[in-house]
Amino acid sequence: MDSKNEKTTTSRNFIQHIIDKDLENNVYGQRVHTRFPPEPNGYLHIGHAKSICLNFGIKEQYKGKCNLRFDDTNPIKEEVEYVESIKEDVRWLGFEWDDLYYASNYFEKLYEYAEILIKKGKAFVCDLSPEEIRNYRGTLTEPGKNSPYRERSVEENLDLFRRMRAGEFKEGSRVLRAKIDMASPNLNMRDPVMYRIMFADHHRTKDAWCIYPMYDYAHPVSDAIENITHSICTLEFEDHRPLYNWFLQELKEEFPTPPQQIEFARLELTHTVMSKRKLRKLVEDRMVDGWDDPRMPTISGLRRRGYTPESIREFCDRIGVAKNKSEVDVALLEYCIREDLKLKEPRIMSVLNPLKVVITNYPEGEVEYLEVENNQENPEMGTRQVPFAREIYIEREDFMENPPKKFFRLSPGKEVRLKNAYFIKCEEVIKDEKTGEIIELHCTYDPETKSGTGFTGRKVKGTIHWVSAAHAIPAEVRLYDYLFLEDEAESEDKEMTLNPQSLKVLKKCYIEPSVKGAKPGSRYQFFRHGYFCTDSKDSTEDHLVFNRIVSLRSSYKPNK
Ligand code: ATP
Ligand code: MG
Repeated sequence: MDSKNEKTTTSRNFIQHIIDKDLENNVYGQRVHTRFPPEPNGYLHIGHAKSICLNFGIKEQYKGKCNLRFDDTNPIKEEVEYVESIKEDVRWLGFEWDDLYYASNYFEKLYEYAEILIKKGKAFVCDLSPEEIRNYRGTLTEPGKNSPYRERSVEENLDLFRRMRAGEFKEGSRVLRAKIDMASPNLNMRDPVMYRIMFADHHRTKDAWCIYPMYDYAHPVSDAIENITHSICTLEFEDHRPLYNWFLQELKEEFPTPPQQIEFARLELTHTVMSKRKLRKLVEDRMVDGWDDPRMPTISGLRRRGYTPESIREFCDRIGVAKNKSEVDVALLEYCIREDLKLKEPRIMSVLNPLKVVITNYPEGEVEYLEVENNQENPEMGTRQVPFAREIYIEREDFMENPPKKFFRLSPGKEVRLKNAYFIKCEEVIKDEKTGEIIELHCTYDPETKSGTGFTGRKVKGTIHWVSAAHAIPAEVRLYDYLFLEDEAESEDKEMTLNPQSLKVLKKCYIEPSVKGAKPGSRYQFFRHGYFCTDSKDSTEDHLVFNRIVSLRSSYKPNK
């Protein structure tokens, strides 16, 4: 990742500098008021988390306010389900909005302000078709042409606009446009459309309206109505800022201290698709198990995967806020969850691909409870009792019949330590007569070698983990990899092709009995395998399902 963009918590970003200056100059008195304005047309993703942490973070730092505003001016794509999920996600991240609004609350006011603009001669009704409007607009190198309807009188414009509202005209037959400058080098300033006719049911206003305001008009005015001071958005809107300011300048009587728009670089992550449009396609085409599939970069997907709000906030803090674009390594996000869970969660034993071991010289029917620290790096987490008995499971990959030289785990005639327990030695390999598959190992143990007794008689090179066969809890474990291979995530138009390794389901795993009855959303470190979380949808007390949040190690080191 780009180290220039990494900021420590104490250094101030360029937005904070702007706010500091404004406070110094009393531009908005001593007020700081931001907003987070999602369009309710999909679930929030980790990119939105960056914007949420930024806007709500400013509220916290300056003891200001931050609104949640649903930007619901487009009736076609929006749904109540999305509104609810967005509220849940913002709260889960640990933020609370001051006021909750919908841009659709302002339809009446937006309409009134549009009439004011018409009366000032700053807006006109245009009868060009959408295609003609496009043709008249010109290009980056050529100026546009004035619409033949541009010089309509104020009276005619008012009359037509009122009749547009009354539903007298067909969809697409007329629009309201701002009267600015068809020769402006900025295409956004070439008499942009403010209102279009749409006979669509809106999820809140139902059929009350058949004209709907465009984002570029609705957004600055909504900000101004809410007394926002700093309207923070992503860089794509930089070229729209002159238009944002134009509307508020023309409505200066209504809004004497207009908000200002500030742009920052949107988050892009390696291996990650981050557009709602593409994420929705994955969901609709059933390529994933819904918006909260644990592989999705949505907040709900990360939550289900086992990410904590703290880890996501820490991630957003570390990536910082800058004006230049840069892609962040997804390994940083993984680093943040590992760091968060390291001292918080118990470290337990699990066997994902089991091979049975019978310890032939251990008394049948005997069970021994070994006292084990819950987290070696955090003694405050106390200890637990782990049962040990004659039959155990070990990881299939921890045994090799014909090992290469440097294999220090179990092999015929060799000795290893069972973590927290005894040395065992492999005496016999039992195979399936027909298939030749190894089905069981017979081992002996040495009672002298119990962990914690200070045994120093001899050394073994390897330590392997295990669970008692009679006590272990059977479970399903889901291992995840990136949803996309790197170049797939970046491609714009191609069909999206998932990483075929992105989900691996292991149905016959055994976990030590301390996980018995684990509630959905419980997190653990499984020795050697990583951090895991019981799935919030599919895990029940009788059938535990674990998601791997992240594996244990990575070569990744963040720049400090
Ligand atoms: P998408 O392109 O994924 O649909 P969007 O910008 O259309 O995203 P909105 O619901 O309009 O989504 O966004 C709400 C807020 O979140 C906006 O202020 C937007 O700038 C911000 N946002 C969206 N994506 C990112 C991102 N990747 N990084 C930072 N902020 C983002
Ligand atoms: Mg948007």
